[in-house]
Amino acid sequence: MGVCDGFVEAIGNTPLIRLQAASEATGCEILGKAEFMNPGGSVKDRAAWWMIREAERIGRLQPGATIVEGTAGNTGIGLAHICNARGYSSLIYMPDNQSREKVDILETLGAEVRVVPTVPYANEMNYQKQAKRYAESLDTAVWVNQFDNTANRLAHYESTGPEIWKQTEGRVDAFVCAVGTGGTIAGVSKYLKQKREDIQLILLDCIGSALYNFVTTGTVTMSDGTSITEGIGNSRITDNLAGARIDWALQITDQDAVSMVYRLLREEGWFFGSSTGVNVCGAIEVARKLGPGHTIVTVLCDGGGKYRSSLFNREWLAKKGFAID
Ligand code: PMP
Repeated sequence: MGVCDGFVEAIGNTPLIRLQAASEATGCEILGKAEFMNPGGSVKDRAAWWMIREAERIGRLQPGATIVEGTAGNTGIGLAHICNARGYSSLIYMPDNQSREKVDILETLGAEVRVVPTVPYANEMNYQKQAKRYAESLDTAVWVNQFDNTANRLAHYESTGPEIWKQTEGRVDAFVCAVGTGGTIAGVSKYLKQKREDIQLILLDCIGSALYNFVTTGTVTMSDGTSITEGIGNSRITDNLAGARIDWALQITDQDAVSMVYRLLREEGWFFGSSTGVNVCGAIEVARKLGPGHTIVTVLCDGGGKYRSSLFNREWLAKKGFAID
């Protein structure tokens, strides 16, 4: 890789990292796409750039415009960086069940942040709907709409999928990942299935989300319970996820995801957020199902630094009832 000319050119082309303990325990190659190494720190930098680039291409974004979005945080962080780099302002709606650190980072980057009560999507006060309404009330604003704007999944079809194929030299048997908007799994699955139809695509879901039931039974019904994971799970099938080639799904508990991020930290030195814990648990379960000798790829979505006051805080964990081995 040569010189990247500025922020947006530094997005993507992340390493594919072999997770040593998971690989040795299963006899498979368990590989993580290092999305936490994107310049804004998460898998959402790719989607943020593709969506802004598309809005620029079709002439919707004029210099000085305001980008408005509802986000669990990471898309907002990617957008805020890119807005600074390209002369836009950013205004972010976030539900109040996300980490304080993400709000702090957004404000430091210069975004205006509106933290709103966490309510279901059907409620008109849902953060995504508030973002849409606010953007529509301004002449110079553009609503990004990451859930239903398919430039999001295109990012992963055009960049993440081809990178995984190239980095594994085509030797990938399964791709496994948790879903928020669905952009990552839908884009990667489309690319990999075009390359080789028999690559297995496995959706991972947290508790208190409808996506496991959707893949398993075809009905969009929520599973019981709630999850402390951030950025994943959904109550509806977004335009990004619709039509994605998914073979099967697994549900991962919060306790398993929490234990996994601590194992990765203590045994291998990695510092990841909760969705990455879900992804590595899922990759191991898939490896056990497929048997030794397979190559399983998953996503290392973001770093643990944004969750110091929650996932990496002993008192918080104890209050939520989690055990760390
Ligand atoms: N992990 C984290 C930490 C995220 O912020 C997100 C995006 N909300 C995801 C996973 C899921 O990615 P996607 O939106 O592409 O499904």
